[in-house]
Amino acid sequence: MTSRAPRSVRLLAAAVLAGVLSGAHVAAQAIQYERPVQVAPQQETIGGGYVTPDVQRPRPREYWLQVADVGLLAVAMALAVWFVIERRSRAWTLTLTAASLAYFGFYRQGCICPIGSIQNVAVALTDSTYSIPMVVTAVFFMPLVVALFVGRAFCGSVCPLGAMQELVVLKPIQVPRRLDNALGLLKYVYLALAIGLAIRPEIARDFVICRFDPFVGFFRREGFAHMMAIGAGFLVLGTVVGRPYCRYLCPYGGLLSWCSRLATRGVTITPAKELDCGLCAKACPYGAIDRMRAVRKECLYCARCYASCPCEATPGVAV
Ligand code: SF4
Ligand code: SF4
Repeated sequence: MTSRAPRSVRLLAAAVLAGVLSGAHVAAQAIQYERPVQVAPQQETIGGGYVTPDVQRPRPREYWLQVADVGLLAVAMALAVWFVIERRSRAWTLTLTAASLAYFGFYRQGCICPIGSIQNVAVALTDSTYSIPMVVTAVFFMPLVVALFVGRAFCGSVCPLGAMQELVVLKPIQVPRRLDNALGLLKYVYLALAIGLAIRPEIARDFVICRFDPFVGFFRREGFAHMMAIGAGFLVLGTVVGRPYCRYLCPYGGLLSWCSRLATRGVTITPAKELDCGLCAKACPYGAIDRMRAVRKECLYCARCYASCPCEATPGVAV
């Protein structure tokens, strides 16, 4: 009985999530999706040599390429789960992290983004005239479903914002547990604020998650100076405090954290026997090991604990 309960709760949560999102999506798809830039007067109709400025960066992609991106996201998350849970490999996890940063970050310019999609989904659920494309719905939904079953695989080596911070961790300090917990509440405040500002009447609507994305300026090689400075500040801080944006501010991280509480699979510290030496807890830069166990809601799937563990040296199990 007791072993069935978490599984049924997970399936119920996935079904509710799917129901809510598909309802929003079906309602939204009934309305013709038009970007303001497409319905605004075009340069041919304006005449006089007028050239329409680049108002959207990056430019809209072909639909099949957007669908291909969703497929790549699914493949990347499957690989992240495989590298961490099956292979227990820090090396492969790092390789995937670098590849995700290159593709989803610098090539796609941070534009396949579940974090920002929180706002689109919130508006679609509250405004019957607002439409979101299927790919945005899928991008929002997929990492949450994965988290329900196996934890935060998306954060580990797929999310480009996480990847950027992962690669700058140099000499991480352990943030005192109480301070860590207190700072961790900020992301829920930010989540509530972002949803509140997104669902205001259209004239006053504000997508603050996108406006204050600290890393998108690096991906696009342009941005406001103050945001570039904030992004650089996060990266400098991230050399000694592991992934500060992920742990304390990312609103999507808050949703993933909730979902991953229900996961029954995820990072386990040693493959067979326990030494309880504490090396893994020292190696975890994210304070995600408590009493020699990985805490699912905090674990960012980096696989550092495996790399630090003498038991992982067993042939056939180690990196
Ligand atoms: S916490 Fe947010 S920014 Fe960090 S890896 Fe997860 S989704 Fe990306
Ligand atoms: S417990 Fe810590 S070190 Fe291990 S995978 Fe999770 S975040 Fe990384």
